[in-house]
This record gives sequence, structure tokens and C-alpha cells, in this order.
Amino acid sequence: MTYIRDLLAAGPTVSFEFFPPKTDEAERQLEKAIRELEPLNPSFVSVTYGAGGSTRERTRDIVLGIEAETPLTAMAHLTCMGHTRTEVVSLLEEYQQGDVQNILALAGDPPADGAAPTGDFTYALELVELVREVGSFSVGVAAHPEGHPRSPDSATDRRHLAIKLTAADFGVTQFFFRADDHLRMVDELATLGCNTPVIPGIMPVTNLRQIKRFAELSGAAFPPELAARFEALGDDASAVRALGVEVATELCQQLLDEGVPGLHFYTLNRSTATREIATNLGLASS
Ligand code: FAD
Repeated sequence: MTYIRDLLAAGPTVSFEFFPPKTDEAERQLEKAIRELEPLNPSFVSVTYGAGGSTRERTRDIVLGIEAETPLTAMAHLTCMGHTRTEVVSLLEEYQQGDVQNILALAGDPPADGAAPTGDFTYALELVELVREVGSFSVGVAAHPEGHPRSPDSATDRRHLAIKLTAADFGVTQFFFRADDHLRMVDELATLGCNTPVIPGIMPVTNLRQIKRFAELSGAAFPPELAARFEALGDDASAVRALGVEVATELCQQLLDEGVPGLHFYTLNRSTATREIATNLGLASS
């Protein structure tokens, strides 16, 4: 039994996030990334769940495969919006039978076409409660250092987040670029009486246009001073990558110095940047 709540107690943890590939070539890329990251001995790896359950079977198969065929501990992302209670329970039972002990319980997003969400759930907290009912899982939830884009204001965001984190075992954040945004969120949660560990999410910049688009979608600010440093490099892709690794290393070091419980890397199914950052931080032997 490997529960992330126990790994965090002995932390800091190092974890990697993957997404389910859509093509055979992308699948080979994911297998390569997992193989190359495995020697870093991550505390756990996680696999995302497509909006509205669009990758339900693929996410499940990858998570079960990681648990069964590798020495790695897997965490399954699971969103509840647009799902019935019965659907969620049956997936959780499959995870339980496959020895998957860690679930990241998420609300997910309403349909992109503006239609009203269907299903039995509205908020992630309802899923946390159901996961606890179904089995003995370690349950994580999402946190947004700069506030969730659907939150009307920061105080409301923190209030709902504190309640959700108190019901869970740990949080994992959306990516961000300023350590202060994370540290401020942790302080605000402590003021509300919530001291659940929250693992910062790190997205190394390897492609400026892509990262700006992700930041826009997730509500994370891409600081103008950072954008200027990248823009000064023009089209030099390898210089952009090198600066991305340098900037992410600095951010991780600052966060570790502040005593964060772990680091969670958004790998985008590639291993190189994450391996370089881990090596710079002395977290990797290779
Ligand atoms: P919630 O915690 O439910 O919050 C959503 C909004 O509702 C917030 O504004 C919150 O303040 C508000 N709220 C909460 N409770 C209440 C209440 N009782 N009354 C009124 N308002 C309330 N998406 C995917 O589709 N697949 C993934 O695999 C995935 N992985 C993710 C991993 C991480 C680490 C993170 C940070 C996000 C991930 N997401 C994923 C995105 C996530 O699904 C979206 O951000 C989604 O819009 C909200 O999910 P949540 O779990 O934060 O929702």
C-alpha cells in the first residue's frame, strides 16, 4: 500500500504528471518518457482524465498498467462533472481492484459549448466525499494559487478551497511562475485553519507560445518580466528551453527552501526538461 499522504509525511515528494496519448506515436512517446523518468525514483506519477470523461478508459488503462507493470506508484485524476454517481463508483471499484490507492478528485469543467453540465456532481468536494465512501484511497484535490478562474474573488476561492482541502489528504496546484503566489495561498489557508499539505505544480517553459496559451486557459499569470526574458531569445528554440529549465530550477529551489511538501512536474509526456531540473536540484542521480 503506497498512500501519497504517507509519502508526504516523509517528504518532500517528487512527482510527474502525464496525459493519455491519442495516437500510436504519442503512446510510444509516453512510454519513452516514463522509461526515462523512472530512474529518478519519483514518489508517484499521475495521469490526467479528459474533460467530461473523454479519456475514461485510456486513463484507467494507463494507471492500472503503471501500477501492474512498473515499480511506480500511480495517482489517477478523476473529474466528476457530467458523470453519474454509478459511473464514478464503478471506475473507483476498478481502481481498487487494480491496487490503485491514490485519486486526484476534481470537478472538471462545464461543456465548452456553454451547455449546462449534466450528471450528479457540481463540485470536487462531492467527489472527495464519494471516494472516501467507496474505499480506502489517499485523496488529493486541485488548488489554484492565483485563484480558480470561476471564483468571483480571492476570499471566496480560499474559503471553498480550505473546506475541500480539509476533507482531502493533500492538494496539487495549477502551475504558476512566482513562488510568492504559492506561499501566499498557503498562508491564507493557514489563517482559515487549513494546514493540509499542498504540492506546487511546476510547468517548465519549453515553448513560449504554448505556455502563454496554457496560462491563459488556467488563469495563471505569465509575468511580463519573465515573458520579456524569453522574447529576447527570439526563435532560438534551444535557448528558450535552456532558459525554461533555469527559471524552473530557480522556482523549485526557492519553494524547497521555503519547505514545500513536494514538487509536481507537468511533463507534457516529455522527460528531458524535467530530468535536467531534477539533476540541477540534486534530486536525481542520473
Ligand atoms: P472545485 O474545487 O469544485 O472548484 C471549482 C470552482 O467552484 C471554484 O471557483 C470554487 O471556488 C467553486 N466552488 C467550490 N465549491 C463551491 C461551493 N460549495 N459553492 C460555490 N462555489 C464553489 N481537469 C480535467 O478535466 N482533467 C484533469 O485530469 C485535471 N487535472 C488537474 C490537475 C491539477 C493539479 C489541477 C490544478 C487542475 C486539473 N484539472 C483537470 C482542471 C480542473 O478540473 C478545473 O480547474 C476545473 O475547472 C475545476 O476543478 P476543481 O477540482 O478545482 O473544482
